[in-house]
Amino acid sequence: MDGARVFNAAVALGTSVAELTRGCDSVMFCLSKGLGAPSGSMLLGPVEFIERARVYRKMFGGGMRQVGVLAAAGLVALQESPQILHRDHENAKHLAEGLAEIPGITIDPRNVATNIVIFDVAKTGQPAAEICRFLVERGVLASPTEKFFIRMVTHCDVTREGIERALTTMASLVRSLN
Ligand SMILES: *Cc1c(COP(=O)(O)O)cnc(C)c1O
Repeated sequence: MDGARVFNAAVALGTSVAELTRGCDSVMFCLSKGLGAPSGSMLLGPVEFIERARVYRKMFGGGMRQVGVLAAAGLVALQESPQILHRDHENAKHLAEGLAEIPGITIDPRNVATNIVIFDVAKTGQPAAEICRFLVERGVLASPTEKFFIRMVTHCDVTREGIERALTTMASLVRSLN
């Protein structure tokens, strides 16, 4: 299983990662992304598979030395993040609900299940890239995913106040376009 975000999926589905990965031969997941470590991913599977993966990792230049400090951060991410991931999902839902109220932005908050919020800005008349440039200048990071679609992601460093600031910034931008 490519389970990069499997911990977010488990929280959103109200189940455990163990349950979701039952029946998989091997699982990969990210310690960064939702879990919040600075970098790192885990690969889980039978011993022979992991031994083969180590060889491939080396062939691809994926080996690193002195990564204990990164592993320590990964351990913290694994031990402490799963039980607080629901906050990111609640923040994403709140963000989606606020965005839905801004004229020119189209999003159905019911479709937001995890920490990723994708919305349509076509009715503002501005391309997503333009809007993102404006937002970044005001400290709100967002990525254009298509000409008129923007993606925002909540994570452990995004507070509820940050969400409010993103909404205020977006609302004032859209107002200034009219
Ligand atoms: C991020 C991601 C990966 C890659 O993980 P890395 O740790 O960045 O190598 C693989 N699959 C999916 C679906 C991802 O989101």
